[in-house]
Amino acid sequence: MPDTLSAASLRDETAAILRQTAVAEAEFGGGGRSVRSPITGEAIASVRDSTADEAREAIGRAHAAFLRWRLVPAPRRGELVRLLGEELRAHKELLGRLVTIEAGKVVSEGLGEVQEMIDICDFAVGLSRQLYGLTLPSERADHRLQEQWHPAGVVGVISAFNFPVAVWSWNAALALVCGDPVVWKPSEKTPLTALATQAIFRKAVERFGADAPDGLSTVLVGDASVGEALVDDGRVPVVSATGSTRMGRAVGQCVAARFGRAILELGGNNASIVTPSADLDLTLRAVAFGAMGTAGQRCTTLRRLIVHESVHDALVAKLKRVYETISVGSPTQSDALVGPLIDRAAFEGMQKALDAAKAAGGTVVGGERVDVAGEDAFYVRPALVTMPAQTGPVVEETFAPILYVLKYRDLDEAVALQNGVPQGLSSSIFATDIREVERFLSAAGSDCGIANVNMGPSGAEIGGAFGGEKETGGGRESGSDAWKAYMRRQTNAVNYGRSLPLAQGVRFDV
Ligand code: NAD
Repeated sequence: MPDTLSAASLRDETAAILRQTAVAEAEFGGGGRSVRSPITGEAIASVRDSTADEAREAIGRAHAAFLRWRLVPAPRRGELVRLLGEELRAHKELLGRLVTIEAGKVVSEGLGEVQEMIDICDFAVGLSRQLYGLTLPSERADHRLQEQWHPAGVVGVISAFNFPVAVWSWNAALALVCGDPVVWKPSEKTPLTALATQAIFRKAVERFGADAPDGLSTVLVGDASVGEALVDDGRVPVVSATGSTRMGRAVGQCVAARFGRAILELGGNNASIVTPSADLDLTLRAVAFGAMGTAGQRCTTLRRLIVHESVHDALVAKLKRVYETISVGSPTQSDALVGPLIDRAAFEGMQKALDAAKAAGGTVVGGERVDVAGEDAFYVRPALVTMPAQTGPVVEETFAPILYVLKYRDLDEAVALQNGVPQGLSSSIFATDIREVERFLSAAGSDCGIANVNMGPSGAEIGGAFGGEKETGGGRESGSDAWKAYMRRQTNAVNYGRSLPLAQGVRFDV
């Protein structure tokens, strides 16, 4: 792969990748919305937004596809997802590279994102033979009680820029085996990876054959207004929306108003507690990745470090050295660990938060802009901020590499700080004292959807259910039994006797 920062060569490489994944030329060069790479800040392609009519038509096609797809046996539906996984394996390098170019992730993270897509396909293939309901004892003689899970209908997926393809796959792999077509509105900042993913999906469909109806997967390009078309349409019973809490508040209310189901995966403000018994070397490495990886632009990024007073100063001194020396640079360079912020707004948001932190008594190391590729690209040195209290910007999610450090005396105080923010996505504790670990994991411990031990809050595996509480939205995606959100549950009571006993002993003799 070329190791380059020239806008022209990024443009050429992008076009080459899109051609190789069989995206139609007209889809990425026809004018309209300009797509920029955060690596240089310059335009690399242009895409045309979907119109409201096109959105309605795509949802109509998806609904027609649903009427056929729901009748295809689930293990056969799994075969399509197996082929999708194969195609993703074959295109891993290309798609991973496009993630790097369009979202600015360092190479291993771009590839890791595609690996996650492959992993969820594998998971979903097995799941296609395990969409089971329960059988339950009936209180009535000669009766049987059971539940079945049936396909729910079209699933709308709205995704954020920072996981431009994995989020689609978490939803789509499950939805497809569950019998649901998918209509996807990717972030307006990352439409190219979505178009490439859709082209890869088409290859799987071609191999699968005629059982796959037209309209099983569609991409709608555009901004929030295109997303709103999905959110408002009654033919879309499930809307999975990943992004800011502001977006989720709007989407959740619209979907609820029409009695649809929303899976909300929103902002996080994740903390780690470092206890006196922590292995500090391991903690240091975990904190570095958790807080600075993906340039602080993960929903699970470590944003608050709550450190026991006995180890606070030693850990902060070690962290300062790491923050001062971490390599910031183009994500195409093999030694860069911190790539660019997505755009100017992200940079300005970071500076605003740092100013507010200083005003609230914080001491800031780092945070300054680093000139890697000129004035349209926004690279920063990650910021380490020691705070006297959890106030001001500390209780908000700023989508940039800022780590606030707070001091605590006893574990109850640490847990109260950890839980004392509106968001509830991910959390972790560093400890070798089993009592402290178990208290953190108990009902009186972390209030987050994810609580880890001796690792950071970032970097989830697909096997577990992913999501968080409070303003993170309450949704769960990916592993465990998250598939149930993509199906409707039906309870069946069957009478195989000759009498008609009523439940609860009710009598109605006619
Ligand atoms: P964003 O909210 O600006 O946009 C996300 C998506 O929502 C985009 O596709 C956008 O076009 C769409 N959108 C915005 N308003 C909408 C509306 N009213 N109706 C329909 N669609 C609408 O978020 P972003 O800046 O792309 O991503 C960063 C945010 O996403 C952070 O807050 C981060 O924590 C969050 N995030 C959460 C998770 C998770 O799983 N919890 C994962 C990734 C990102």
